[in-house]
Amino acid sequence: MAILSFFELEKKCLDANKTIYEIAQEEESLLSSDIVDVIRLRVLEDLLAMKDAIKNGLTSQEKSISGWCGDDCYKLITGFSSRPSLFGKIFEKITAYALATAEENLRMGRIVACPTAGSCGIVPSVIVAVAEERKIPEVQQVNGLLTAGMIGLIISNKVQLAGAVAGCQAECGVASAMAAAALVQMLGGNTGEIINAAALALKNILGLTCDPVCGLVEVPCIKRNAFLGVHAVTAAELAMCGVESKIPIDEIVDTLKITGQLMSPLLKETSLGGLAKTETALTLEKKLHKTKSNI
Ligand code: SF4
Repeated sequence: MAILSFFELEKKCLDANKTIYEIAQEEESLLSSDIVDVIRLRVLEDLLAMKDAIKNGLTSQEKSISGWCGDDCYKLITGFSSRPSLFGKIFEKITAYALATAEENLRMGRIVACPTAGSCGIVPSVIVAVAEERKIPEVQQVNGLLTAGMIGLIISNKVQLAGAVAGCQAECGVASAMAAAALVQMLGGNTGEIINAAALALKNILGLTCDPVCGLVEVPCIKRNAFLGVHAVTAAELAMCGVESKIPIDEIVDTLKITGQLMSPLLKETSLGGLAKTETALTLEKKLHKTKSNI
């Protein structure tokens, strides 16, 4: 039977003396009738596709059809090569990999929606950057990705993961919670720390609206991936030091859902409010329509 809450998940892990990723692969095996090895192979394929997207994004400066985005990853790489980040190599890689993936998405390249296309850079950037810098083997990266999947799945049982339903908190916010959980798993944290990391990430992003300029998944979506990749690391670091979310994660997920319901429709992927209605956004919109009508 599907696990519907984090309370159930934690109890199941404790009762069976298993990790979240072990429970995740067993659940998936039951659901699909494939053996666990096949499930893990599929997750590995997703991981490799994520790495390909990062690789492709790192070497391209091709702009999107709007012409607004596509070269920010390149700017980061060149910037950090002359002035290393205050936060070090892992920060440089997370931000660059998140932009690389999100920019591949706007070029219609192959990405893994994780949990959505708009938030596709967050989980891969954290897993791959930390794995590279800390020399974490692929098998542990797969464990991390399975853990992230379980976090996303339980949240999606309660809330539809779409900006149009609950704002960007349900896309980039959830992706950040998934990435935080994956990171704690990869660094050897326990079940409580993993769930707590997800809770901290989610709690501190509640209320994030979805207001893409001209309805394109470009502004503010692309750069948001870099910010929320770093947000995930903050949550993981705090959780692994024993800092706990006073509000349990199941209540945070309920709050995310209610906050989404309270959010004005203008701020839920309609592009009728927020950043999408700023003076600059309206100018960009006019220019874009002019270019289109000239084609
Ligand atoms: S702002 Fe909206 S479209 Fe952009 S990533 Fe967030 S939820 Fe998706």
